[in-house]
Amino acid sequence: MTTASAGIAIPDELTSKTNLIAGDWVDARSGERFEVRSPATGEVLAEVPSCAPADVDAAVAAAKAAWPAFKARHVYERSAIVLRMAELVRERAKTIARVLSAEQGKPYETESLPEVMEVALNFQLAGEDVVRMETPVLAMRDPNKRVLTFREPYGVMAVITPWNFPTVIPSEYIGPGLAAGNTMIMKPASTTPLSMILVARCIEEALEEFDLPEGVFNLVTGRGSVVGDYLVSHPDVDIVGFTGETVTGESICARAGIKQTLMELGGNGPQIVCSDANLEAAAAAAAYGCFFNAGQVCCATERILVEDEVHDRFLELLLAEARKWRLGDPFDPATTMGPLNNEPTAVKTEEHLADAKAKGAEILTGGKRESGRPTDLYFPPTVIDGVRRDMLLNLEETFGPVAPVIRYTSNEEAVEIANESGYGLQMSVFTSSIKKCFWFADRLRTGNVVFNDSTDYWEAHEPFGGGGGTKSGHGRLGGRFTLDDVTHLKTVAIDFEKAL
Ligand code: NAP
Repeated sequence: MTTASAGIAIPDELTSKTNLIAGDWVDARSGERFEVRSPATGEVLAEVPSCAPADVDAAVAAAKAAWPAFKARHVYERSAIVLRMAELVRERAKTIARVLSAEQGKPYETESLPEVMEVALNFQLAGEDVVRMETPVLAMRDPNKRVLTFREPYGVMAVITPWNFPTVIPSEYIGPGLAAGNTMIMKPASTTPLSMILVARCIEEALEEFDLPEGVFNLVTGRGSVVGDYLVSHPDVDIVGFTGETVTGESICARAGIKQTLMELGGNGPQIVCSDANLEAAAAAAAYGCFFNAGQVCCATERILVEDEVHDRFLELLLAEARKWRLGDPFDPATTMGPLNNEPTAVKTEEHLADAKAKGAEILTGGKRESGRPTDLYFPPTVIDGVRRDMLLNLEETFGPVAPVIRYTSNEEAVEIANESGYGLQMSVFTSSIKKCFWFADRLRTGNVVFNDSTDYWEAHEPFGGGGGTKSGHGRLGGRFTLDDVTHLKTVAIDFEKAL
């Protein structure tokens, strides 16, 4: 440990040579670096390599060279490798989580530690599930033939991830990707690469213990518009796993051509509160959905649609819940919500609130950055009522700690509002009627829907991703469902009659 910064000791592994290419920890070829700052204190935590296409070429070449030997390793061996990765992450969870809080801003105890434990869980699930994958065997017209199918890895996989969950989102691709036999180049987000570099140390150590070819797993840092852009269109990359904004995902798909892609994109999750709902539970869940990770979650509650007759009572309960959240330093145990991660997110939140205010909505609590804090990124829990369908808060993803309340008068209208933004990642409905659960489940255009809990509810092994035809992407993250997406089916027909 060397530098003390933002209330934490920076591990030595983060002070130089933090890119992993062909088994070596290296700097960018150009020697250029960029700073990673704490959103909570504004201090520089570390500098990381600012890579260019030449660095990406080296990482892709290493992954390509390593692939045939890695793919040839027995599936039980690859399973053991990712299970070992899980062990190493668990052993170092506290160190990784402290760095995660420092660079991302989320509370250490309630959010960062659980996130890192979920990284280990994702690796564990991949190790357990990969040895239980099943494939179809078909009856053939030709009586002398048998047809089997096998799951094959694609080859070289690029993984590009955002800053809101800097370790757990990468792990959702890395665990299944490696367990299935792909080799990999990962590019973390530029405001939060440090915790992922520590996870990469665990991955590399596990790979070394199994005496694998160098280059199975590579990590490069650098600007998305430079490194990410070059990586996704590289001719030797076979599959791209991307989590981020819809607009970035669209441009990646345009450049990735016929490569396999998994696109986990933006959301605009509504929580629908029916008049027959448990309003206390609905208010607590809505506050959680809006303020967990300061609203910087793809499945955050971006809008709360409340049936007219329970609007006033619900609003009272929601305000009481919002006042329980404590904005503060991520390392203060009393803090339940940290600062926003970056300036563009704060600006977008302000723009959406200004648009709603100008069109007649009323901010009941919060609504602007807090002064007197170490940085300008402390945005309090905000409740805004009188939100209408033409406002940006309803139509676009805000990604800040905002609870916009929209009234509706019929179930049909609630569905119309929920579906109209075109996003369809995760939605939630509070109702006491089982009949309504299925009615809504059939009509909401979304990949995931939760009844009587927050839009922010998920478990690591369930299939998670955008609904068909929505702006939230395609492919599924979650346990064995990701294993399906990072492999393709190879069909093998055997004529046993003609065998000697
Ligand atoms: P972003 O701006 O799209 O960036 C995501 C990643 O892509 C970063 O590593 C970024 O690098 C890189 N990138 C930027 N431009 C690129 C380009 N032209 N080519 C290739 N890569 C490029 O998204 P974000 O602001 O980090 O993340 C927030 C978004 O992620 C929200 O929309 C949220 O809903 C979505 N999200 C979705 C899910 C899901 O499961 N569906 C989960 C979490 C988050 P730099 O950091 O260097 O710019």
